[in-house]
Amino acid sequence: MKLLVISFGCQMSTADGAEMARPLRARGFESASGLGDADAVILNTCTVRQHAEDRALSQIGRLKPWKEERPGRLLIVAGCAAERIGAWIEERFPYVDLVVGAKSIEAYPAILDQALKRSFDWARDDAPAWPAAAQEQAGAGAYVTVMRGCNYACTYCIVPAVRGPELYRPFDTVLAEAGAALSAGARELTLLGQTVNSWRDGSGRDFSDLVRAVDALPGVARQRFMSPHPFFLTPKLMRAMADCATVAPHLHLPAQSGSDRMLKAMKRNYTSMSYLAKTETLRTMVPGLALSTDFIVGFPGETEEDFRATLEFASAGDFCTAYCFKYSAREGTAAASAPDPVDETVKDERLARLLELVEANMRRRLDAMVGTRVRVLLEDATDGRTQFHFRARLDEPGVPGTLVDAVVTGRTDTALKARALSLASRPVAVVSLSS
Ligand code: SF4
Repeated sequence: MKLLVISFGCQMSTADGAEMARPLRARGFESASGLGDADAVILNTCTVRQHAEDRALSQIGRLKPWKEERPGRLLIVAGCAAERIGAWIEERFPYVDLVVGAKSIEAYPAILDQALKRSFDWARDDAPAWPAAAQEQAGAGAYVTVMRGCNYACTYCIVPAVRGPELYRPFDTVLAEAGAALSAGARELTLLGQTVNSWRDGSGRDFSDLVRAVDALPGVARQRFMSPHPFFLTPKLMRAMADCATVAPHLHLPAQSGSDRMLKAMKRNYTSMSYLAKTETLRTMVPGLALSTDFIVGFPGETEEDFRATLEFASAGDFCTAYCFKYSAREGTAAASAPDPVDETVKDERLARLLELVEANMRRRLDAMVGTRVRVLLEDATDGRTQFHFRARLDEPGVPGTLVDAVVTGRTDTALKARALSLASRPVAVVSLSS
């Protein structure tokens, strides 16, 4: 039997999709090449933005003929939208076999067996409930989920409602999964969580200890983490980032706004000054650090003065790139009922001004890299990511999954062009691990 996983939204959604596929793979499902040969589909939804939710819902609609063609096929809808509007999905799309909300992922294998029994007359009860490791995550990079949920209450965000409070995966489980992904061929690990750096366990270990432990795993060439919260960028974590050769000199640290008034209204628990002070400290500890961020423009009540503060902050932060979004209200969040929405045309205009600044900064950063040496982790024959997370294309093909030293020769609008210095002919577990 064949399985297709379709994920919408963030890396957490992709990682959840891989995790939900695992019990099916343990029960003998292989990867489908597309819908045509799939006996089961896991559609992992996202609800952080209306756009992502709409795309997922229309995909469910498009799966109706696939399901009708062979009613025994299994359609599982999972993730954040399934949590938020699961009952509505069941009613609107009655051909969906199983709706599993994001909060139910731990209970999912047991629920799955009931669905398998219905769809495929599945009677086995000897399959492992939750295979321990992500052996299927071959390829250059692998995601390892270290925590789920969020204890914060950012006023624009639906995540705490759909994912629930923070749950930390045990230290040994995370390391076992990371080790299994490395054994399966991964060279770069991305530790994932909604506020990944709030991870801790009952024995006093915190996220910096996890980073150090991952650094010591045999075969890891590079590690990153997504998405850290500025509040938990502690001196101890910064020290670990500086000490561990495998930690990439790149950090994506969501800022959301440069206006303290807006940060307070968003309940972000930091100020623009404290954010910049922390990142400046980190820059002194991690040479060449590339910093990227997220911005929301047009949050309710945002004035021109607030927006200008964001522009100034974006300049002062010297971000290599930033993901900029127009605020869109999510039903069920505190900000959705705020009385002073920003006009859509004003949002559009602010977004364009911010993007102009962010893109100019990115081009400057790319230009400054011409002539420098980078290390590219190849995701396919010619394309990969440098340690600074810029995409790079090599002038000649190499071996996917290997690290290649290269000299930057030019750029496109968003990526580097590079000349390979040392094309590895074998996996890089044997290559020196400095990032
Ligand atoms: S920290 Fe804020 S933005 Fe991030 S998941 Fe939690 S509530 Fe949402």
